[in-house]
Amino acid sequence: MIRLNYNQSEVSFENRVETNKQNDGHPFFSSTPGQCSLFKLCQEYVLSLGWEKCFFAPQHDRCYCNNCYSSSQPDVILTAGDTYVVPREWAGFGLSVDPALADYHKLWTEWIVTYHGTSIYAAQSILANRQFLIPGDVLLNGSVLGIRPGHIPGKKHIYTSPSIRYSSLDVYSIRNDFTASSGKKYKAQLVLQCRQKPGTFKIQPETVGRGQDPICDFISNDKIEYFTEIRVSLVPYRLLVNLKDI
Ligand SMILES: [Zn+2]
Repeated sequence: MIRLNYNQSEVSFENRVETNKQNDGHPFFSSTPGQCSLFKLCQEYVLSLGWEKCFFAPQHDRCYCNNCYSSSQPDVILTAGDTYVVPREWAGFGLSVDPALADYHKLWTEWIVTYHGTSIYAAQSILANRQFLIPGDVLLNGSVLGIRPGHIPGKKHIYTSPSIRYSSLDVYSIRNDFTASSGKKYKAQLVLQCRQKPGTFKIQPETVGRGQDPICDFISNDKIEYFTEIRVSLVPYRLLVNLKDI
């Protein structure tokens, strides 16, 4: 069996308590993710990335496949006064969160849940730097973080959404090839599940040219994209992985 073989004593931030109040804790789940074949496959993908294990807090892993999070469970969850769409069919890998930051900002009770679709490189960079970066930032290697093609010049924002479907559109969440140990090939996507401070971002309609054609079953197109310049208003707490057969 492939597993992330963490020594619990090596996990720096392990005092995070996920409760029913946090709304994505255990009560909705029928089994622990380690028992799920989809979760194990996604775990194999995460291992293939070769990231530092200090990024992860495996006690907060969740699987949102049909077996682990049944169709009778809620599709939309209210947290801190705002709703987000449950990431069905995605596997979630708990990320280390600074407990002082979480306590001080009341992260688990007062900040909403949003998603940030991203690439492997950008996700690793966010986790390594312990914060989001904004285009124009000078990176540790001296290079300047560029603005992704298609973004409006001069607009230096971080984009999020309460909709997993919107955040996982190809323009945000880059698809990568993955060959599992079984030899089967997949397209893999990453999305960061985040806590975001209310009142620190603006809300706008979709910016991918869909007009009135609904993107998400639960969040309307006219309020599906959030953007902010305040990098510290956003804290990733779970890495979501989706694999599609090719
Ligand atoms: Zn599962």
